[in-house]
Amino acid sequence: MKAAVMRAPNAPLSIEDVTISKPGPREVLVRLKAVGVCHSDVHFWDGNFPAELPVILGHESAGIVEEVGSMVSAVKPGDHVISILSPFCGTCEYCLTGHMSVCHTVNKDQFQRQPTEAPRLAIKGEKVGQFLNLSSFAEQILVHENALCAVDKDMPMDKACLIGCGVITGVGSVFHSAKVEPGSTVAVLGCGGVGLAAINGAAIAGASRIIAVDLSDEKLQMAVRFGATDTVNPGKVNAIEAVKELTKGGVHYSFECVGLKQTAEQAYHMLRPRGVATVIGMISPGVNIEIPGIELLATEKRLQGAIMGSNRFRVDFPRLIELYRQGKLHLDDLVSDRIGLDGITGALQNLKDNKGTVARQVVVFDQ
Ligand SMILES: [Zn+2]
Ligand SMILES: [Zn+2]
Repeated sequence: MKAAVMRAPNAPLSIEDVTISKPGPREVLVRLKAVGVCHSDVHFWDGNFPAELPVILGHESAGIVEEVGSMVSAVKPGDHVISILSPFCGTCEYCLTGHMSVCHTVNKDQFQRQPTEAPRLAIKGEKVGQFLNLSSFAEQILVHENALCAVDKDMPMDKACLIGCGVITGVGSVFHSAKVEPGSTVAVLGCGGVGLAAINGAAIAGASRIIAVDLSDEKLQMAVRFGATDTVNPGKVNAIEAVKELTKGGVHYSFECVGLKQTAEQAYHMLRPRGVATVIGMISPGVNIEIPGIELLATEKRLQGAIMGSNRFRVDFPRLIELYRQGKLHLDDLVSDRIGLDGITGALQNLKDNKGTVARQVVVFDQ
């Protein structure tokens, strides 16, 4: 099968023939139909986060099951599926208490092949790294069954794939991590794919005021389409003061969707007492966030993290698809461009350059 292979940081991905293994007992072979290009891919492509090279990036995908292993029960050939980078084991403390989104961070060996086994991906006998146990910039993926959710066959694949990372991360953080209440006030820092999904989620949750914060006026315009009631451009005004003024003292909930020390600290400082700031952005290893310790005591403000929207994806994905059908989840507006495998390098560069008009660029494969 063909895949876009990363052989060096910041270099163009090369389209190569890759050998994909046969499904092991709990593995599933999926022919991909669509994959979104996410900012997290950029963080590995530009070398900011370490990757084992050569590697196939990509992790926001949807496709059709081709073949399943002998023990697979969750899906069958012909099923339409959305993948996720946070598979769950189903037996650990986190899974059994409903926090399966962190299972893969502590139990990851269960979801990949061991060094003694044949690799899932190889080029001329040389092992190719499987990014986040998925590697979706490819025609096919071979993954653990607990990294997949079957969905209705009438759901368009180029919209479905977005649910698997950016949308669940943004919407899930609002619903599950912060538990935004109807009538409350929300600020979202960063209006890329994840930030727009958080804004959309806050609107669905019934927030009365949703303040979008971004340096790009184009992205702020887009944010309004997703439900933002107010916009703040920190290049023009002090974001913390502007948010505090709009909400008479600060928001109940803020979401950091950029991945920087400065925006994480801003997210905290624009809270009212008892407010909750949720960091969703990927903050580079070695970067620390500083907040005044006494404020934790004096104001009961909270700073928390969330991975993959604290999802329970086999419950969440069908629900999100229903919200899309009802016109509440704006997946159509998220897709800014459709490209082929050979367009991924350009798409990564667009995200890195922070092009204001880019929400999600989606690779679509021939039907
Ligand atoms: Zn992603
Ligand atoms: Zn688990």
